[in-house]
Amino acid sequence: MKVPFADLKAQYRAHQASFDAAMRAVIEDTAFVGGKYVRQFEQEFAREIGVKHCIGCGNGTDAIYIVLKMLGIGAGDEVITTSISWIATSETISQTGATPVFVDLDPTGCMDVDLVEAAITPRTRAIIPVHLYGQAARMGKLLDIARRHNLIVVEDCAQAHLAESGGKQVGTLGRAATFSFYPGKNLGAYGDAGAIVTNDDELAAACRRFANHGSLTKHEHLIEGINSRLDGMQAALLSAKLPHLREWTRCRREIAAKYDRLLAGMRDVKPLPRNTEGTHVFHLYVVEVENRAALQAALTAAGIETGIHYPRALPFLPAYRRLNKNESDFPRAAHMQSRILSLPMFPEMTDAMIEYVCATIRQSAA
Ligand SMILES: *Cc1c(COP(=O)(O)O)cnc(C)c1O
Repeated sequence: MKVPFADLKAQYRAHQASFDAAMRAVIEDTAFVGGKYVRQFEQEFAREIGVKHCIGCGNGTDAIYIVLKMLGIGAGDEVITTSISWIATSETISQTGATPVFVDLDPTGCMDVDLVEAAITPRTRAIIPVHLYGQAARMGKLLDIARRHNLIVVEDCAQAHLAESGGKQVGTLGRAATFSFYPGKNLGAYGDAGAIVTNDDELAAACRRFANHGSLTKHEHLIEGINSRLDGMQAALLSAKLPHLREWTRCRREIAAKYDRLLAGMRDVKPLPRNTEGTHVFHLYVVEVENRAALQAALTAAGIETGIHYPRALPFLPAYRRLNKNESDFPRAAHMQSRILSLPMFPEMTDAMIEYVCATIRQSAA
């Protein structure tokens, strides 16, 4: 049996007629950039998340950059974030001219909120929690710290569409939040796409203007901006997919529960602990493994694809050599980066596939 890491084709096959029709309509209407399909998706997604504004943009990386920039963050500022994430989270802090300040992890893989206060300096302006792998970070305490220190919270929700924290949907908890619709994300376009969500009217207008060359009205450029817009084809496809997102999320949770059951009691392969304050939408199903290289090789040999998210924690990447950090500064990140392994996870995964993956794991590890 072959088990892919994800299977975007299976989803397309199941909904081909509606996805094709959505994209064909955009061509018929020549509504390629901006236009009615983009407005419609923005409204639908804002409603789904439970916020006032959604601003579509080119991708989830630009979404973070745009919102930080429009919050006035720049040279001389510090922004606190987590030490294991996709580089977009910290890269965009640097793009504004500010400095990323990394914080070590808790056992779930999210930022250890108990370490945040020690990272605050007079230059700190904002905190970017990442709901990593689809699991809500510990937002209760984080929001409390942010309030007491007058810091802005921008949630990176790229992996966590529809996850909840303390009964509230992620994306609604801070001043603003960003989403990615990269094809492999829980809600994925057929190309790059992203969005900013916020309840702040002024911030929403500023982000929309900046993402469109500094202009809300054609040829009126109040400021210089960038070109980072959601295109009509992606918006129409996302609108066709959005009604299925809750069902796909339910499937991901069911698959995770099956993995949990079939891997229970193993000594050398353990699912990452979960944060009980929030819910998990399982963008990824991640285990900690004693001997990762051996297990990954055994799975590959058995036709099972796996991934590592991510093999090197952000502070240890060559890109951040200037920060002069070493493994003793982030002991949990250093420990996890060599042990985490992401198992296949996609809504269409069959019981037979899950059983085959777990049987193969039990054959090659204790
Ligand atoms: C995917 C991702 C991003 C960036 O999104 P793109 O759409 O690929 O630019 C940012 N943060 C996290 C945590 C991500 O997983």
